[in-house]
Amino acid sequence: MKINTTTGSITDAELGRTLIHEHVLAAFPGWYLDTRLSAPKRADAIARVVDAFQRLHAYGIRTVVDPCPADLGRDVEFCAEVSQRSGVALICTTGVYTEAFGIPYTFKHLPTEAIEEIYQREIEDGIGSTGIKAGLIKIASGDGVVSEYEQKVLTAAARVAKTTGVPLLSHTENCSCGHEQIDIVTGQGVAANRLLVGHSDGRDDHAYQASLAARGAYVGFDRFGLEVFNSDTNRMKNLQQMIDAGYRDQEMVSHDTVNCWYGAVPGVGSPDDLARLLPNWTMTHLFERIFPQLLAMGVAQADLDAILLDNPRRFFNGTI
Ligand SMILES: [Zn+2]
Repeated sequence: MKINTTTGSITDAELGRTLIHEHVLAAFPGWYLDTRLSAPKRADAIARVVDAFQRLHAYGIRTVVDPCPADLGRDVEFCAEVSQRSGVALICTTGVYTEAFGIPYTFKHLPTEAIEEIYQREIEDGIGSTGIKAGLIKIASGDGVVSEYEQKVLTAAARVAKTTGVPLLSHTENCSCGHEQIDIVTGQGVAANRLLVGHSDGRDDHAYQASLAARGAYVGFDRFGLEVFNSDTNRMKNLQQMIDAGYRDQEMVSHDTVNCWYGAVPGVGSPDDLARLLPNWTMTHLFERIFPQLLAMGVAQADLDAILLDNPRRFFNGTI
């Protein structure tokens, strides 16, 4: 089987150690309305992001999934250049963000079939005129409820996952709506193991995390270092609980870092303010601080290797 990356297709065996959820760049809708701010210079921004990916490469990571939805500043040519210069394969996505934080105007007015056509083209023909194909589908739901708009785009996403065979990766908020996402996906005839329920580490809630895995979905512990939502201490405890409960093979780890911001970070301030607030929120945090602590807690190196290498491979190739 072939997996689309920003620099061509690879086999599942070529994925190597993979981080499943890191952003090369992100921009919230309308960031440019605050004209006190200027966009980073593209060449400087790419150089800084390449540095970060080279540091990650030194830890043995060979592939990164950048699940930037189309309405959050997705720039697949920027990603392709970072990939070429850093040696880390980058997989980009088709799909849109939540109704509250994305740009719902366009898809709200399109029927489900039109959204399906857009997603399918981005996977099979490429995104816009770039020739770069999406390797998976991003889905997103807000806090506590899947809105009518979100239900429509999730349904389109599930149908395209079925016809194209690419997996689905999700955004959730506050450990809510993971089950609703599984319901929509499986309701379209897609197996639950084609879905990674992202940000399931948003709360100290082992029962919720285990319940997602029990239905067959992958469970994202993908915000290590982002301690405004939950502490890494809780995340490590919950991750170990999942291993102890027999769900190691459905766990995915990552940081959800943003390596280049356009504009301000809503509610926080500038990207520099955010970096000061979250000094550990980098793509190498797992290797520098979290894995050593997990090993000290009794988690085996073989478990960490399986989570970084085997789980992403099965997620993409669809085997259990
Ligand atoms: Zn993200």
